[in-house]
Amino acid sequence: MVSDPQPERLSIGIVGGGIGGVAFAVALSRDPRLDVQLFEAAPHFSEIGAGVSFGPNAVRAIQLLGLEQSYRRIADSSPAPYEDVWFEWRCWRDDAYLTASLAPGCGQSSVHRADFLDAIVANLPKGIAQFGKRCIEVQQDAEGVEVAFEDGSRHRCDILIGYDGIKSAVREHVLPPEQYGEFNPFWSGTYAYRGMIPTGQLEEAMAAKGADKRLALVPQMYLGPDRHILTFPVKQSELINVVAFITDRSTATPTLAEGEAWVKPVSQEEMLGVFEGWGAGSQAILECIPEPTRWALHELPELPRYHRDRVLIVGDAAHAMVPHQGAGAGQALEDAYVLASLLTDQACTRHNAQQALAAFDAVRHERTCKVQRTSHEAGDLYEYSAPGIDDDEDKVASELETRFDWLWNHDPQDDVLAAKVRLAWESTSLTAFA
Ligand SMILES: Cc1cc2nc3c(=O)[nH]c(=O)nc-3n(C[C@H](O)[C@H](O)[C@H](O)COP(=O)(O)OP(=O)(O)OC[C@H]3O[C@@H](n4cnc5c(N)ncnc54)[C@H](O)[C@@H]3O)c2cc1C
Repeated sequence: MVSDPQPERLSIGIVGGGIGGVAFAVALSRDPRLDVQLFEAAPHFSEIGAGVSFGPNAVRAIQLLGLEQSYRRIADSSPAPYEDVWFEWRCWRDDAYLTASLAPGCGQSSVHRADFLDAIVANLPKGIAQFGKRCIEVQQDAEGVEVAFEDGSRHRCDILIGYDGIKSAVREHVLPPEQYGEFNPFWSGTYAYRGMIPTGQLEEAMAAKGADKRLALVPQMYLGPDRHILTFPVKQSELINVVAFITDRSTATPTLAEGEAWVKPVSQEEMLGVFEGWGAGSQAILECIPEPTRWALHELPELPRYHRDRVLIVGDAAHAMVPHQGAGAGQALEDAYVLASLLTDQACTRHNAQQALAAFDAVRHERTCKVQRTSHEAGDLYEYSAPGIDDDEDKVASELETRFDWLWNHDPQDDVLAAKVRLAWESTSLTAFA
């Protein structure tokens, strides 16, 4: 079935209904001039039951997207008097305090992923999302874009936004391999063991090991050679989200075994073995996770561009990164705010919308690539492998105190302004953008 958009309204197709795609669709849905359709491959919106943490920049994007109330209802923060603490950093051997990274006014702002997706989906008007729609091909011509789905249906729109995650199908259309070569996700060399622990249980386990009970609720990172462990509260502090990382740095191009799943359940023994010899706090945490899952963390190389005429990729489809700055979803939300601001501008029409996609690419590319790159480098720092710093814990601590300021202090409204200036400069038909 081919559905034709109403001729006078700018029609926007979105592929992918994760955190980024849904937040973007909600922002567009408030503008009656737009015809918005979101296509999700899964039979319904879904997220995993783990935590996701947001820096001050991501919380700002959530506010600007008009989702603050939905967020605040379910968000956790560091308990008083640690409200400004993003993470406390500790030594792997004995939990010794190294330093803390402070994000004044925000601290560690985190949510349970599935709760957050549900909360933002509640803002999406009926009739916008379609499920069981796995995009398999994208084509475009001078008048519009046609997207084909696995179920045989097709959809035509003026512009198409690929929010379809790290394994994006839209990406191949934006960067045809015959022209650009392959841009596939690659394994970062890091595995992440994940689990959730009831807060009371972790507090008891900490006390039983002689570790400070406070370490359960205040966000912590335990740092060591080629490994680190993080904890922060979610579900109104009912649960503690745990991720324990190990990295293979023996080769520049680590590869997974043939056919190895990206995510799989593993034994607790395997995880405990990886962290043998670590301090009491780490042991208490890991012993409370009887059934961990192990994630092979993948990332994308920095892409040369995010748009091709009427089609744009954003979020993880464009700049998937390792989670060491807790920044991937934050970048997907910044993208959503900036792009929605351009597309809901009165000056944006069916005829010039593709120039807005080019302007978005021009202003967002450098920042998102830098967030990707520094996320990888942050993992090296946490795991005593940063060039010139290695296992010098004083240097590690001093670097961590200010390392994230540039990332957190960004205002996506500046990106919108820069894109609008660019649009006015590039196209006389868009002077109203200025
Ligand atoms: C272990 C781990 C911890 C993390 N922690 C954090 C954190 O604390 N803070 C943070 O900011 N980020 C974190 N991230 C990163 C964050 O999860 C991602 O950056 C974020 O989910 C990206 O959102 P997205 O909407 O772009 O993509 P996704 O969330 O991947 O959503 C993509 C959607 O597209 C759908 N889809 C895929 N292919 C198709 C297709 N062909 N057709 C139609 N639909 C399709 C999928 O079903 C999915 O619903 C973490 C990641 C990992 C792995």
